Amino acid sequence: MSAGADLRRLLPSVEQVLQRTEVRALEARHGRAVVVRELRALVEDARTRAAAGDRAAVESAAADLPARLAARLDRARAASLVPVVNATGVVVHTNLGRSRLPPEAAEQVARIATSYSNLEFDLAAGDRGQREVHAETRLRTLVGTEAAVVVNNNAAAVLLAVNTFAEGREVLVSRSELVEIGGSFRIPDVLRKGGARLREVGTTNRTRIADYRSALGPETGLILKVHPSNFRIVGFTEAPSRSELVALAHEAGVPMVEDLGSGLLEPLAGLDETTVAESLRGGVDVVTFSGDKLLGGPQAGLVVGGSARIGAMRANPLYRALRVDKMTLAALDAVLVIHESGRAAADLPTPRMLSASVDEVRGRAQAFAARIQAAAPSLTLAIVEGTSAAGGGAAPTAEIPTALLRVAHGVKSAQQLVEELRRGDPPVVARIADGALVLDLRTVAPDEEDVLAAALARVAGGDA
Ligand SMILES: *Cc1c(COP(=O)(O)O)cnc(C)c1O
Repeated sequence: MSAGADLRRLLPSVEQVLQRTEVRALEARHGRAVVVRELRALVEDARTRAAAGDRAAVESAAADLPARLAARLDRARAASLVPVVNATGVVVHTNLGRSRLPPEAAEQVARIATSYSNLEFDLAAGDRGQREVHAETRLRTLVGTEAAVVVNNNAAAVLLAVNTFAEGREVLVSRSELVEIGGSFRIPDVLRKGGARLREVGTTNRTRIADYRSALGPETGLILKVHPSNFRIVGFTEAPSRSELVALAHEAGVPMVEDLGSGLLEPLAGLDETTVAESLRGGVDVVTFSGDKLLGGPQAGLVVGGSARIGAMRANPLYRALRVDKMTLAALDAVLVIHESGRAAADLPTPRMLSASVDEVRGRAQAFAARIQAAAPSLTLAIVEGTSAAGGGAAPTAEIPTALLRVAHGVKSAQQLVEELRRGDPPVVARIADGALVLDLRTVAPDEEDVLAAALARVAGGDA
């Protein structure tokens, strides 16, 4: 008999372990299927070690299988989606969930999610209602629209607009606006999937109103203006004004649709972006934008415009597939209340972080550095000048001046520090600039400074 088979006999069978009282208790907590799955994996691992002749490993595995199983089950039960500290200075960080919700929005989501609500019920009339009224009423005063529709994201908003007004017809877009946002959103692809044909107008750098006019015809479904969210064309450029485009669309009897992207409701200092109200005031029929970029709310696509056009979009069967859940509407409602009351720059994380001055960020960085230095003397800290970014396809050329905390370790490289921070609990995402680890406190909330300090002390070598 081989040594491996001999060692294997030290291991109980899965069935035997399942009979133990403490394992039965785990089953009641985690469910039988999960317990069996994790236990099999543990026993399998121990058998591999037995086959390799690792007696010590097999003996210790056999001795504390239930305890190991409990630990494994706790790990398996842990949430997959976890909070992360964003120390990158990229405010609307798409990979990190874009906008953080303010506590009052999160509380409103919890309230609505855990009860029945008047989602589609008109309490005054005692009759069936519209889920859109909740956002619409506020958007009327906030951006001066007649009606609104809310869908899953801005990509869905553009898709729905194109499909509603231009299915089987042409959409006129300037060649300078055939943009790609974040890989999977490309204007030509969205138009195709919306059932429309793209009619390219003008050139990459110069497009005139005459180019639109000559492309216009009986096949035209709509004119689309797309905000170049994540790039700028500079130099020898020309583009018709919004009002010229609107006049042309109206002359031809087709809607003028603008994909604004970032969804700025009030001007923010230092950000050169068109607000939703400006676009509507310019006569644009349908404006689309994201809920979780500069608006600072939940992931959503907002569409505003006249009642007839918005009504046509709601009547499109595709709307049913793109509409949002009550949780999104609850969060959006709370966020719009904050905009209405003029508290956005103070109480909404995204606008607040974007409008924090360099002095404010520097002051926090200095106080934080002093605190870290005391706790982790092995780190070399310095405050240096740098830039934050709006991110999320907004104001691509705006370099927001910031103060960075540069962190160096006597032994560990910047790459090593970044990795250890990222693998920590909670994970901290930071960046490397000029070969050094840098932290931008602009995107770190004051109440996250404790966990960030603890994370730095850990990577410094546990000297705190
Ligand atoms: C961000 C953006 C989109 C995509 O919006 P999502 O909400 O991410 O779907 C589309 N168009 C423009 C101009 C954008 O800036």
